[in-house]
Amino acid sequence: MTNSSRHFGRYEVILLRDGVFEAPADVLIHADGDAARHRVIEAWGKPTLQVDVNCFALRDADGIILVDAGTGTSWGPKYGHARSALHEAGITPDQIGRILLTHIHGDHALGLFDGDTPYFPHADVFVPESDFAFFTNPAARQATPEARRGGFNVAEQLQRVYGSRVRRIKEGPVFAGIEARPLPGHTPGHTGYLVRGEDNDLLIWGDTLHLGDLQPGDPKIGLVFDLDPDMAAQTRQATLEEAVREGWIIAGGHITGFGRVQRASEGYQISTV
Ligand SMILES: [Zn+2]
Repeated sequence: MTNSSRHFGRYEVILLRDGVFEAPADVLIHADGDAARHRVIEAWGKPTLQVDVNCFALRDADGIILVDAGTGTSWGPKYGHARSALHEAGITPDQIGRILLTHIHGDHALGLFDGDTPYFPHADVFVPESDFAFFTNPAARQATPEARRGGFNVAEQLQRVYGSRVRRIKEGPVFAGIEARPLPGHTPGHTGYLVRGEDNDLLIWGDTLHLGDLQPGDPKIGLVFDLDPDMAAQTRQATLEEAVREGWIIAGGHITGFGRVQRASEGYQISTV
């Protein structure tokens, strides 16, 4: 898989494609309720949806930072290609000292692990503190439907495997030229990372939206994987608007490549750049 890379400020940002996630169209939801949801699924017209699974390597003179880590070997042979993409970029796991997670979901974090050992032996893992608090809270686990509990298992594995090398971060500057921006809804601590550039900044927005050709046109469209669908829809709307206003380049866990957000006759649209 060919890597795609861009420069933003001090960083070369390399998009690492881990695989393609496929799900039935009935994972689509709508903030206005069931009737709106059915209209969306009907208009979508396809039985399934397919989205890229991405993570990112940021390279500068100080080393390599990963944003998310893909699925590793946990999701089978169709996934885990971020590891070969890293290799292709000339990066070995032991060169990676810092890993930023957008949120604690398997498709973003399971690549951290080789069973019970760290795949990145020298890395500290930086996790949004409110995601860490939520996914390590037994009461929150209990209150979450069984099918949505994957993040709790990942958080448990993260503590077990990385121990004191799990660092909690808050909103604001994290490393030189990188700011954490809370984008709550998909998960409670879901966070984007704004990479400062010379002409344009890059927002790596995690799972703010999954379907780059559908959700910008109606930000109220979500996926069942959004833990708080209403908050996710509000964050989606606000982030799309801010991306237009600020002229950000955007990339994420599930959209294809790098894009720019524009206003459209209905909602927004993303064009690949
Ligand atoms: Zn995801």
